[in-house]
Amino acid sequence: MNATTTRAVRTVDPDEERALLEGIDRWIEREVRPVVMHHDHEDLWPAELVEQMKEMGLFGATISQEYGGLGLPASTYAKIVMRISACWMALSGIFNSHLMMAAAVERFGTEAQKSLWLPKFASGEMRGGLGLTEPNAGTDLQAIRTTAVRDGDHYVINGTKTWITNGIQGHCIALLVKTDTHADPRYKGMSLFIAPKGPGFTVGKKLKKLGYNAIDSAELVFDNYRIPADHLIGGEEGQGFFHATGGLELGRINVAARGVGLAEGALALATSYAQLRETMGKPICQHQAIQLKLGEMVTRARAARLLTLDAAASYDAGQRCDMEAGIAKYFASEAAVRNSEEAMRVHGGYAYSKEYDIERCYRDSLLMCIGEGTNEMQRIIVAKEWVRRNPV
Ligand SMILES: Cc1cc2nc3c(=O)[nH]c(=O)nc-3n(C[C@H](O)[C@H](O)[C@H](O)COP(=O)(O)OP(=O)(O)OC[C@H]3O[C@@H](n4cnc5c(N)ncnc54)[C@H](O)[C@@H]3O)c2cc1C
Repeated sequence: MNATTTRAVRTVDPDEERALLEGIDRWIEREVRPVVMHHDHEDLWPAELVEQMKEMGLFGATISQEYGGLGLPASTYAKIVMRISACWMALSGIFNSHLMMAAAVERFGTEAQKSLWLPKFASGEMRGGLGLTEPNAGTDLQAIRTTAVRDGDHYVINGTKTWITNGIQGHCIALLVKTDTHADPRYKGMSLFIAPKGPGFTVGKKLKKLGYNAIDSAELVFDNYRIPADHLIGGEEGQGFFHATGGLELGRINVAARGVGLAEGALALATSYAQLRETMGKPICQHQAIQLKLGEMVTRARAARLLTLDAAASYDAGQRCDMEAGIAKYFASEAAVRNSEEAMRVHGGYAYSKEYDIERCYRDSLLMCIGEGTNEMQRIIVAKEWVRRNPV
């Protein structure tokens, strides 16, 4: 069985990209914006929007066309994520995590696995996400305790995963396990499976969160869960750590794009509010204290966008871009938090009201500093790569 690490990225000309993004904009205004507050407040799964996302091909956005996807480059994909996240960041999580799972199959799976899974992922018939984190292990992924033991043509899996996005509404996950608990170094004992739901694979509980509502985050329990051996991605044990982290550059560009969306969304809310709200006989955007905030917010949002598109361009060019993706993820997620907080200040007391969108932006933005590697880790990754590229 041959594993490959490539995917066919096609060129999207500016007219096609513009038409695509305009379609996304129309969908957001017509279908998403009117319902976002209700779904967020009620923590309600957006079933209708998910059906529409299927029709638009979003579940196959970065999957190659030969497997039924749109085959979009990271740069076009990032612009889609930015637009959706400017309205409702959580919605992009439904297909972001799914596409990370798909990327692991497309980059590292066997031909048989790609032909079997990718068309179903691309159509949204099978949706899922990444199952890496455990109660005792997030940043230190090599400390996971979930095990897979070979038993004839199957593996038997036991363990618990937590914080898994799409864990309840999804149909499967890319599941990181230990196939050798004694391996030294530890990563050599790790393997990644495509794990569809079935007997022995149950949802422990739905996790309640500060934000990122409507999208499900779950604890998943594996109790003697039997999985066919051909579900092992790439067909070879011991490659799981590489397979799970091999998509992190794209994952970080994803999160950066979400951060850009939030930073721009918060800016847009502050911009309109500051022109409508008057104090001392004039709109607050004419007070210098508010102008300083808006000036900083515009600068942060613009810089975050440019850094993210720079990282996406490097990725599309096939260049190593862990540093660029790390910089973008770090900067854009912090920009999302800062812009949301500043936009709250611009809104005064109304920012604290559930009737205004800005409070959701603020809650949602805080997650961006955690996912796809915390921002503490991003700075360490950036520094290490920076030093490597600049030897004395
Ligand atoms: C809403 C939500 C959705 C999520 N979705 C998914 C998902 O779909 N799939 C999935 O697998 N996981 C998911 N996660 C989990 C997420 O990836 C982890 O929370 C994240 O990796 C951090 O791990 P942790 O929470 O265990 O924190 P820890 O690893 O315990 O870290 C705690 C703190 O210590 C710092 N730290 C840790 N190690 C170091 C170090 N070596 N050097 C410096 N600082 C360090 C961290 O930066 C952090 O500040 C999700 C989490 C949330 C909140």
